Amino acid sequence: METGKSSVIVSKKPTPTPKSIIHQKFGSTAVYRVEEIQDYTQNGCPGLCISQKGPCLYRCTLTLPECSIVSDICKRKKDAEQSAAEKAIEKLGINPNKDNPTPEEAWGQLVNRLSYLFSDEFLSSVHPVSGHLRAALQREGHLNGFVPVSAIAVYDAKICSLCKYIKPEVESNILLVMELIHRAAEKLGGSMLFSEDHLSLKKLNAYPPETMQSLLKSESGMGESIPIEVIRIPSSLKKTVEPMILNASVNGYYLDVIACELGLRDASKVLISRTLGRASSEMRLYYCIPNAKTLSQLSQCHTNQTGQLEGAFNVRASYLCGQDICGDAILASLGYTWRSIDLFHEAVSLRTYYRLLASKIPRGIYKLSREAIIAAELPAVFTIRSNWKGSFPKEILTVFCRQHRLSEPIFLCNSFESQPALQGSPDSGGDKTNGNDQPTVPIVEYKCVVKILSKCQDLIIQCSPKQSYKKEADAIETVALKVLSWLNLFFVILDLSAETVTSASKELDILIYPQHFLKEFATCLSVHYQFQSIGTQSRSFLAYDYMNQQNNKLVDKVSSVKIGGRDSGVTPSTGALVCISYSISLVAKGECTKEYIESSEEFEFEIGCGAVLPLLEAAVTQMSAGQSAWINMELPPDEFILAAAGDSDTIVTLLSTGTCFLECVVTLLRVTVPLEDRMEQALFKPPLSKQRVEYALQHIRQSCAASLVDLGCGSGSLLDSLLDYPSSLERIAGVDLSHKGLARAAKILHTKLNASMDTEPSINKVESAVLFYGSITNFDSRLRGFDIATCLEVIEHMEEDEACIFGNVVLSTFCPRILIVSTPNYEYNPILQRSTLQSPEEERDENQACKFRNHDHKFEWTREQFGHWATDLALKYNYSVEFSGVGGDGDKEPGFASQIGVFRKKDEEFLITDAAESYEVVWEWNRSSNS
Ligand code: SAH
Ligand code: MG
Repeated sequence: METGKSSVIVSKKPTPTPKSIIHQKFGSTAVYRVEEIQDYTQNGCPGLCISQKGPCLYRCTLTLPECSIVSDICKRKKDAEQSAAEKAIEKLGINPNKDNPTPEEAWGQLVNRLSYLFSDEFLSSVHPVSGHLRAALQREGHLNGFVPVSAIAVYDAKICSLCKYIKPEVESNILLVMELIHRAAEKLGGSMLFSEDHLSLKKLNAYPPETMQSLLKSESGMGESIPIEVIRIPSSLKKTVEPMILNASVNGYYLDVIACELGLRDASKVLISRTLGRASSEMRLYYCIPNAKTLSQLSQCHTNQTGQLEGAFNVRASYLCGQDICGDAILASLGYTWRSIDLFHEAVSLRTYYRLLASKIPRGIYKLSREAIIAAELPAVFTIRSNWKGSFPKEILTVFCRQHRLSEPIFLCNSFESQPALQGSPDSGGDKTNGNDQPTVPIVEYKCVVKILSKCQDLIIQCSPKQSYKKEADAIETVALKVLSWLNLFFVILDLSAETVTSASKELDILIYPQHFLKEFATCLSVHYQFQSIGTQSRSFLAYDYMNQQNNKLVDKVSSVKIGGRDSGVTPSTGALVCISYSISLVAKGECTKEYIESSEEFEFEIGCGAVLPLLEAAVTQMSAGQSAWINMELPPDEFILAAAGDSDTIVTLLSTGTCFLECVVTLLRVTVPLEDRMEQALFKPPLSKQRVEYALQHIRQSCAASLVDLGCGSGSLLDSLLDYPSSLERIAGVDLSHKGLARAAKILHTKLNASMDTEPSINKVESAVLFYGSITNFDSRLRGFDIATCLEVIEHMEEDEACIFGNVVLSTFCPRILIVSTPNYEYNPILQRSTLQSPEEERDENQACKFRNHDHKFEWTREQFGHWATDLALKYNYSVEFSGVGGDGDKEPGFASQIGVFRKKDEEFLITDAAESYEVVWEWNRSSNS
């Protein structure tokens, strides 16, 4: 398949771009605003050329705390942003290399900085630290004027970065920063005072009276109490995480209030985590400093992990922020900011806490991005960009790595040329004939490898798929999704067997480095494990299982779904984009209360890739546009319910009854059929699917067939249509691997066959019908000896070797008198593609992303390739084979749109084969038992 002619490795090395330098310096205080400007320069006069606009250009304004900068005019938004960042670097004189001080220089700067923080000038400035200084001056008694070293360590970015130059490892250890501040304060000599426990600092000399006076004046609403909603995270996993109210007051010191809640005497022992959640958030964890005599002892023992710390390790809190936390912790969103001298505060609810937890796992990140925490699921496959909703896989993977403090994922892309003529060839080694009138144009394709490294650059996961793509972006998204699917498996089924891990890794082309992996993800297990009480049930929420079609109970469950409204006939099939509205509530059995959890007026997703809860998707495939359904579903893990629910109190009470289920009301608003179907419907009259039915009918009539089996019957459209015509058929059967397809087939056939009993004379003579779940590459003696077997547009959904196995199985063991096989004619694709050139830009794009008509096709054969396959088989099993097709003209190049082979058994003797039943009957109907 690959010629491997040229191989270019584009490695995305982390050389800092201007933007990333700005980000390092200013973080989220750097704001980019891009505006579009019309380029009139090419057309001359702006006034006259409205109808003849030039290409769009962009200009970016970068706003920084100190200044704002306008970029050059650029063709791309990205470039405009980089240009603005570059100009800012110039203007502010930031030199990424020269700016790095030596440790000695950093020491000097640290001492200066500390002295500045305690200057008169700084006290009245707007700065996160100055708020603490002012509040400290309101403290009563011996603590008056003392500021906890921890607050300085956390809130002064300058001090943090200086400390990094002195000791690079401070990043993950606030105690180390505190120790350095302590030493710097000692260097300031007599001007600083330490509190008794050495954890707070105060300026020896009082601030001038004028400064103090003006501070007092600016205080308003003194003594007024501010109730703030916060969350307590107990260190013991046995205790639940609970909301509580913190009573801060306008002139009191909020860290003292938190200290009191944590059972501490005063603020000096309170430690503060890094921020959680959004970049601009003030949400942090507050917790108690471990007990030890001196700061230097503390910072030593802290690095030694949990063992030596006093107080129990708080797994949940540590997991959330990626810092080691002992004892109870309080999650709160408050503090002094750059924006105002007043204390900023925001309520933190249980829901916020559970959303933070959800944002730690791939499916959670996806759910949050779709604002559908209950209904949405991370899809198992990436088909086309325009059908993917929510954050893209690459983005989710990047967020995931950040959340777990790993390095950014590294994507290595590789482009090479492939020969179109050899694609999907059953005998790839052979000659390169390609209709011999066209020179072969090499096609550039892409493969992508992704590597996930730990913070200290140990390789944790590598994924190297074999599949190639026409677009680099598709290769990247697909590989990212594979890694996410694997991680999902790990996070959802936490007690994975080694076997499952190995087989999943193999299937997803993933290599895991278990030692490093487990080192990074040790704590998350116990945190998420709490929610796994429902055990195996949560498996059904998993994309990986979805891919492997393991939810075979789905058929039963779907059949219990109540569907209301008139059947409009517009039904979604695999690849269709549907739009639904839904509302989900929590219901406890026996209680009459129902708590609303989540809803959406318009929610779009692609059918067939597991983008929503399995039962919801299965139900939607049974509906037609305009219909509504009522579905009762099992509970997802509690953490998702709490992350979705608004009113957590009632929900928690309901959940505690242990008898809850979800009730979902869904309406199917719109169905957009996939491109292949659209082409087949738009380009052919009657549509190709109809022509295939008519083709089959013609053979049934000619051969007076009494029995027919449809191999790969999907949702039963052929069997269904056949029942509309008078024919000799008495016995019909269908086999497929898709539970959803079979469920729909069962529903339609059931309705139609029962209705046919009421009409006299009945239009068809069918006595029995049966649907099997199973693979047509496996033998089942119940399929032996049918008059006609049809296999329409199925083989291209298997790998080529499976298509060969299928050929052997059907002709040597099922032995139908006639076998009709249809599959797309690859040579006809240019005509289909040309016709879609008139369609909107985006659709043309979709089309190019895939080399075949449908993303689920594993191959599409030329007439020659199909001919080879069929002739070889016929010869081997004593059948004759004739070629024809539907769509287009078989006598003209490039032949029919859909090519068909009709196999006929040459002699009537049966091959004797064992009785073997590998299929599962999913639905059965008999005229006698129904009358
Ligand atoms: N014959 C139908 C469906 C075509 S779509 C029609 O013409 O409308 C292809 C179908 O093949 C899907 O329903 C898929 O589930 C089924 N399929 C793919 N591989 C299969 C296998 N090994 N065994 C049984 N069915 C298979
Ligand atoms: Mg197909």
